[in-house]
Amino acid sequence: MTVGSDVVIIGGGIIGLATAVELSLQGAQVTVLSQQFRAAAAHAAAGMLAPQAEGILPGAMLDLCLRSRALYPEWVRKLEGLTGLDTGYWPCGILAPLYVDCLPTPQKMEGLWLDRAAIAHHQPGLSTELAGGWWFPEDGQVDNRALMQTLWIAAQTLGVTLQEGVAVHNIEYQGHRITQLQTSAGVQQGDTYVLSAGAWSGQLLPLPVVPRKGQMLALQVPTELEAPLSQVLFGTEIYIVPRQNGRIILGATSEDVGFAPHNTPAGIQQLLSGATRLYPALKDFAIAEFWWGYRPATPDECPILGASPYQNLVLATGHYRNGILLAPVTARLIAALIGQSNEDPLLASFSCDRFAVPAANTLR
Ligand SMILES: Cc1cc2nc3c(=O)[nH]c(=O)nc-3n(C[C@H](O)[C@H](O)[C@H](O)COP(=O)(O)OP(=O)(O)OC[C@H]3O[C@@H](n4cnc5c(N)ncnc54)[C@H](O)[C@@H]3O)c2cc1C
Repeated sequence: MTVGSDVVIIGGGIIGLATAVELSLQGAQVTVLSQQFRAAAAHAAAGMLAPQAEGILPGAMLDLCLRSRALYPEWVRKLEGLTGLDTGYWPCGILAPLYVDCLPTPQKMEGLWLDRAAIAHHQPGLSTELAGGWWFPEDGQVDNRALMQTLWIAAQTLGVTLQEGVAVHNIEYQGHRITQLQTSAGVQQGDTYVLSAGAWSGQLLPLPVVPRKGQMLALQVPTELEAPLSQVLFGTEIYIVPRQNGRIILGATSEDVGFAPHNTPAGIQQLLSGATRLYPALKDFAIAEFWWGYRPATPDECPILGASPYQNLVLATGHYRNGILLAPVTARLIAALIGQSNEDPLLASFSCDRFAVPAANTLR
């Protein structure tokens, strides 16, 4: 059976779903093909919205990240309004503590430096080995799992065709146009296609996107304690993300091991020792869960957005460490490109042309 749609999105992670919602709001008929909803890096992430704490240098990437952070309040309000669900968006600020042997990094733009006494006052209970830290009040977090659920329901509500458990095996083309997709559920056709298959994107097209594994862990705040942390801690060895529901997320390893699965003793040990050094009281908290995921990494750690070697295929992949942060701006730019042929000048910096991607007639 051949099924058709205005836009067919390959991958139902945060980028695919956010783009589907935006296109649907513009009136497009959208289908999302999702191999495995739960496998998305968007489920594994910490949900930090951290362009400043991440220390992204001034330039197009920082502009993109700041633009997306600014879109967040309005974007989550729209999604929550559509669904009646809560995304856990929390502009709580991020504190980036530094140990005495780490010099303050001058490129941490527009952060407020807190010395040893000031940081101890700002967040009681931190390690006594700290020299101080940067405070970024405009960075924050979202509960990425709640957000994914909200996006899925929003897409459903808007009439997006969501095909869960359907894998694209092959992208077929003639000349410079995609003609159809071979999938595990038959042939799928559309006028326009979007590739947003995260770390798996390089399996479908010869793009320089590879998996970078991250292991994560969650602790549970003891019921007798009032929430001990009211902001994200972005340490040099660990980040600690307190959720409003009493969980504390610890992350993350960064491993170049392909799609190797599982949590490992070395990975979990790294997280636990980093976390209990930075915030010692965590040593007595219950371990609630551990998991892993695959960041879609590119050689320059920036996403690949916009036109492809095919006239009717748009790329939205390679978001590496910042795909949760970058979801609203990506969805907006990609939907404007497809729906209104409006190519935002910022897209030029994220074109696949910056890498040696083969021309259409030499692909596959
Ligand atoms: C441990 C960890 C921590 C992170 N922390 C943060 C953070 O704090 N802040 C932040 O901004 N970002 C963070 N990230 C990064 C962020 O999660 C990713 O950049 C983002 O999820 C990428 O979104 P995506 O939609 O491109 O890919 P994904 O979310 O991985 O989704 C891709 C989807 O495509 C599907 N798919 C793959 N191949 C096919 C196919 N052939 N056919 C159909 N479907 C297919 C997959 O099943 C998957 O569901 C983190 C990532 C990890 C792993």
